[in-house]
Amino acid sequence: MEIFEEIKRRGHEQILFNYDRASGLKAIIAIHNTTLGPALGGCRMLPYQTEEAALEDALRLSEGMTYKAAAAGLDFGGGKTVIIGDPMKDKSEALFRALGRFIETLKGRYLTGEDVGTNEEDFVWARRETRYVVGLPPAYGGSGDTGDNTARGVIQAMRAALMHRYGSPDLQGRRIAVQGLGKVGYHVARRAIEAGARVIAADINPHVVGRVASAWGIEATDPWAVVETPCDIFAPCALGNVITERTVSALQCQVVAGSANNQLADDRLADDLAARGILYAPDFIANAGGLIQVADEIRGYHEERVRHQIDGIYDVLLEIFRKADASGRSTVAVAVDEARRRLDTIQAIHRLYGS
Ligand code: NAD
Repeated sequence: MEIFEEIKRRGHEQILFNYDRASGLKAIIAIHNTTLGPALGGCRMLPYQTEEAALEDALRLSEGMTYKAAAAGLDFGGGKTVIIGDPMKDKSEALFRALGRFIETLKGRYLTGEDVGTNEEDFVWARRETRYVVGLPPAYGGSGDTGDNTARGVIQAMRAALMHRYGSPDLQGRRIAVQGLGKVGYHVARRAIEAGARVIAADINPHVVGRVASAWGIEATDPWAVVETPCDIFAPCALGNVITERTVSALQCQVVAGSANNQLADDRLADDLAARGILYAPDFIANAGGLIQVADEIRGYHEERVRHQIDGIYDVLLEIFRKADASGRSTVAVAVDEARRRLDTIQAIHRLYGS
């Protein structure tokens, strides 16, 4: 990868690399855009096959955070941390305290919290070294795990898609295929069942599926078959890049709405989905619930305000679907445009009287 070319193309402000000998920490922080406020975005820990794959993930995810915050009406920018390591083997107090020191050097220009491979407990360690972490357990003054609020937003996205497609937002009797039953997918499945939907679910961890299948009457399916399951809504709630040139033609759903970041391997696949008559709820709109929660925590957490704001995802998406239909553009193109428009407007306002 030509790093500076890639940064120029995507519009990043800053990329930081940190290696800490004592703890073994290898972390990359990508700050994409701070027009609206300090960059905010979780910390992912994965055993990346290559350093390039880790950097690519940081660049793409941080860009997505800029649009997510802008579209959700937040006063934060986009950033992301990736740690190269195995969350099952490589976590330690030293590792997360070293990460905390690293983040503290940015003096609030970037704030982070849990993401795939990390959890709120990890940031209790990081918190000892920096104030700039969010999503801590309530016992440490935080708003706690973001999984359920993210799921709340995903359900709103599903309801908006059903409303747009069928004229009713009701999940009752709808068939929903959930890929991944982790911190978010678990609550998506639970909320969908509570709303009267029939849920088919898959996870690469068979214990997780077994637990919810027996407790809630969920139909379990194979992790690789779930993409091709006939259903009303396919909900990707595992990792990204699930919609590829191959899978786009295998989908047997009317709607794609889930929590995973970067569901499309390439944004152009949004046009292919539309051409197949599949309504796509852009991931960075549907999964903004967790971000809305932690952003509120920074300004003084208010649960009801957060819920209200997350429920607003329904109206935001209805508008995006309407504009996409009217313009013949994909829902992703419309959503990115709307987010960029807000960035430009706020930037212009800030220029009015200087900062
Ligand atoms: P998680 O790690 O808790 O859960 C992911 C689950 O997916 C795990 O149970 C894992 O076993 C399973 N999985 C992985 N690959 C799979 C596959 N190929 N098929 C089926 N299952 C598979 O992560 P999470 O916090 O639930 O996040 C899920 C997705 O949502 C991620 O893409 C994350 O970036 C995104 N997201 C999460 C939040 C949040 O608040 N946690 C907010 C916004 C977006």
